[in-house]
Amino acid sequence: MTHVLEISGLVKKFGGLTATDHVSLTVDTGEIHALIGPNGAGKSTLINQICGEIIPNAGHIHLAGREVTRLPPADRVALGLGRTFQITSLLDDMTVRQNLGLAVQAREGGNFHIFDRAAKRAEIWDEVGETLNDTALSPRADIAAADLSHGEKKQLELLMALSQRPRLLLLDEPMAGLGHLESQQMIDSLRAARSDCAMLLVEHDMEAVFALADRISVLVYGRVIAAGTADEIRANPAVREAYLGEEDA
Ligand code: ADP
Ligand code: MG
Repeated sequence: MTHVLEISGLVKKFGGLTATDHVSLTVDTGEIHALIGPNGAGKSTLINQICGEIIPNAGHIHLAGREVTRLPPADRVALGLGRTFQITSLLDDMTVRQNLGLAVQAREGGNFHIFDRAAKRAEIWDEVGETLNDTALSPRADIAAADLSHGEKKQLELLMALSQRPRLLLLDEPMAGLGHLESQQMIDSLRAARSDCAMLLVEHDMEAVFALADRISVLVYGRVIAAGTADEIRANPAVREAYLGEEDA
């Protein structure tokens, strides 16, 4: 079986510091794979190598069976890699619906003929309507992005990323800055999205990680010290000592 993402023997050094130390992991179709670890463990560095913003010193990254280790970010997006748009990329004056329309249009690129424009536009708004349907943002569709709460902005980012129809979505701390209710909504949204794409989730909120992840990899000083299901990770003594143990102290 082809993994959506396969990382093998990845190494990234910053001067004398090995931020990624022979990391190997896979993400399968339909899987939510969480990456956890203390601050400075190398989570963001790993995510940035998967997106193509950082090129590793050694090792390989395959996306849907294709080697992408040294490809530029745009080529990886074309192969099905998605990541959440940053809140700063939302257009403040535009409504939720319009922001989503732009995301769908970006996916379509220049792929349609000028004579098809009116039809295409109708198709885009239909798709936006379907995307919003049954989501927490549905009643807020015609509100300007600037007037959304922080949690609603994060929801919009997620919907925009999903509009790209990625095979694999990279999520770097989607719960950051969210209150309890907003986190719960984000967990529900990610759960609903899992049938559409696999996810690699970096998250500090352990409640969210244990609620969502099929598998968890634990990174400490650039190394994967443990990988397994939520139950296996909870019970792993090395993980408790290196990471979860902090909570018992
Ligand atoms: P995490 O996301 O798990 O908190 P990071 O990937 O941000 O960890 O950082 C891992 C280690 O690499 C840290 O020690 C950090 O200081 C270092 N690091 C990250 N980016 C750079 C960089 N561009 N140059 C030098 N050191 C870096
Ligand atoms: Mg980080």
